[in-house]
Amino acid sequence: MNNLLLMLKEVAYNLHWSWNKDAVELFNEINPDFWNWSGHNPVKLLNEINQNYLEFTIEKKNLGGRVLALYADQKEYLNRKTFFEEKYFKTGDPIIAYFSAEYGLTECLKTYSGGLGVLSGDHLKSSSDLGLPLVGIGLAYSYGFFTQMINPDGWQTENYQLNEFPNLPIELLRDENYIPVRVSVNFPNRTIWIQVWIAHVGRVKLYLLDTSLSENSVEDRRITDILYGGDNEKRICQEIVLGIGGTRLIEKLGLNIKAYHLNEGHSAFLCFERIKNYMKKNNVSYSEAKDKCFYSNIFTTHTPVPAGIDIFTRELFSKYFKDYAEKEVGISLEELFLEGDLIKEDEKNDRFNMAYLAINNSNFINGVSKLHGEVSRKMWMLSDKRSQIDYITNGVHTPSYVSNFSNNLLCKYFSANWIYDEDIWKRFDEITNEEVWALRLLNKYKLISFCRERIKEKWISLGADKDKLKEAESILNPDALTIGFARRFATYKRGTLIFRDLERLKRIVKNSSMPVQFVFSGKAHPKDEGGKNLISEIISFTRDPDLKNKIVFLDNYDINVARHLVEGCDIWLNNPRRPLEASGTSGMKIVANGGLNFSILDGWWDEGYTPDNGWKIDSFLSADISLEQRDLFEANSLYETLEKEIIPLYYLRNEKGIPLNWVKKIKSSVKNLAGYFSTNRMVREYCEKFYMKVK
Ligand SMILES: *Cc1c(COP(=O)(O)O)cnc(C)c1O
Repeated sequence: MNNLLLMLKEVAYNLHWSWNKDAVELFNEINPDFWNWSGHNPVKLLNEINQNYLEFTIEKKNLGGRVLALYADQKEYLNRKTFFEEKYFKTGDPIIAYFSAEYGLTECLKTYSGGLGVLSGDHLKSSSDLGLPLVGIGLAYSYGFFTQMINPDGWQTENYQLNEFPNLPIELLRDENYIPVRVSVNFPNRTIWIQVWIAHVGRVKLYLLDTSLSENSVEDRRITDILYGGDNEKRICQEIVLGIGGTRLIEKLGLNIKAYHLNEGHSAFLCFERIKNYMKKNNVSYSEAKDKCFYSNIFTTHTPVPAGIDIFTRELFSKYFKDYAEKEVGISLEELFLEGDLIKEDEKNDRFNMAYLAINNSNFINGVSKLHGEVSRKMWMLSDKRSQIDYITNGVHTPSYVSNFSNNLLCKYFSANWIYDEDIWKRFDEITNEEVWALRLLNKYKLISFCRERIKEKWISLGADKDKLKEAESILNPDALTIGFARRFATYKRGTLIFRDLERLKRIVKNSSMPVQFVFSGKAHPKDEGGKNLISEIISFTRDPDLKNKIVFLDNYDINVARHLVEGCDIWLNNPRRPLEASGTSGMKIVANGGLNFSILDGWWDEGYTPDNGWKIDSFLSADISLEQRDLFEANSLYETLEKEIIPLYYLRNEKGIPLNWVKKIKSSVKNLAGYFSTNRMVREYCEKFYMKVK
């Protein structure tokens, strides 16, 4: 292989490419069809493409210089002086371990389902940008989460696609003798072997644990097959592999970790393993070891409702932890079981709660927005506990969501290093109104052509004829106010609230002098019939002759679809039942692309909203009305604001056709929100408040 190809391969094996626009553009330029066929996976692209053709293409399209530049760029990124080095010290050894059941890094790595995973992915990316000495630990799902397809009846169908590990931007972890590194955990009457895949996320290493080894029974190989699939027994097995297996990996690699971050309760069994290790190493009692480990665990909770938390029965817990308690730790099963309870006089659960395990063992506990911090404090009432619940508001890894057009504009006005410089957002005013407006139009056109392309592909797969395919060209209007709604179809997110008064919605959408259109997307959990019903309702609205081509639904909401939506939508709509949205992050992703938020004051928007930044939907907070009445009240506020404020503002144009007041709002939104609601700020906060406070 020639040098250029080797360099390109090296670039492909570090996920830094996924937030480097030049890299993605180059992979696409090699062969756009192949790039799409690969699922935006450069390793697969480079492995599967004919090597002679690849060399020939690089030469013919004159890409050699760009390959060299890209290679140099990645090297520069990996070696540059970082925030952490400047503020704290220089180290090559990780001291923070971040545990999460899912990671959403890029579309080809299907190890995520939704917001929690994308947040974990963004946490790693920003840790890399800032130079934090952090490693990630997760699971290498052989199938991951499902691919969604809406069938002709309008019903969600689920498909599981194999993650071809050898063709993904991950490598098997090997020791210095090139032997694969393995760890094990003990299950009743057997040992489960685990191999490890490593994903390089810029400077950060992410270790993904995998049980699909021939040493394990066929059934045990499937422990790490599907994300959030199967029953509670499968769940406890996955969580043992993650928490205990992950801690064993850290020991095996000899990492000197100071702070353990539990992102959600799934990994909380790590608390047991840490205590056990401390007991062995220091020859101390369980309670003494527990007391010591307590100070270096950090628990981030993401759910405002008890139902969202993993809870195991006493039988199930006993099955997997009896031997562990008695033989490995050397305490009674009962004592271990009590870790999964918040002992209060008036209640006795007799169930093992993963969040309680985390709470009982973490010095630092936080919710993911200011409001969610308050909600969590009320939910758990920890007044008698050593630790109290604080909050750190979520953010997003901005470079992963800005469009090429936005990036170009930021580079032009500021510098190519804008990602390290939060002050640029305050200077966003320097960009002319014309350019901000042009940016909006470009971003939106790109989204609309993506929608047309996607829908056309789908129709082709369903055998549509030529006339039908021609119709795809007229889906959505490039000049209309475009509203996006995309997220998990969990019932509390109320995906159909906007359809509450169908006639009123039709009047809004059909107004030809001020047209409005909607793009929907999102998956329902395979077992959530309620969520699937919501999707099916929306699909039937998209087929209503009055709404057709003005309201569209894109199948298979994933990072790719999300990126197009957050680039192109003028308005991002979010109408959950307050306070059930712990944070929500998709609305943050639109900010740097010039989109504006229109949302219930829940999660992050409760902090982010001001009348200059965007719009709120009034929520009815009194407890003494029914959910039905509340939906009605809030839908009404939604329509009112849309009709009286949002639409008129968008269509109020100056002589050059620019809606100056709208542009003004975009500028305030970027200035006030883009810097704060970023994972760079969030990770710095974790660092200052938690990680670096651990002794
Ligand atoms: C950002 C993102 C989410 C999170 O969206 P919410 O606003 O929290 O609902 C979910 N899925 C994907 C693919 C995302 O990119």
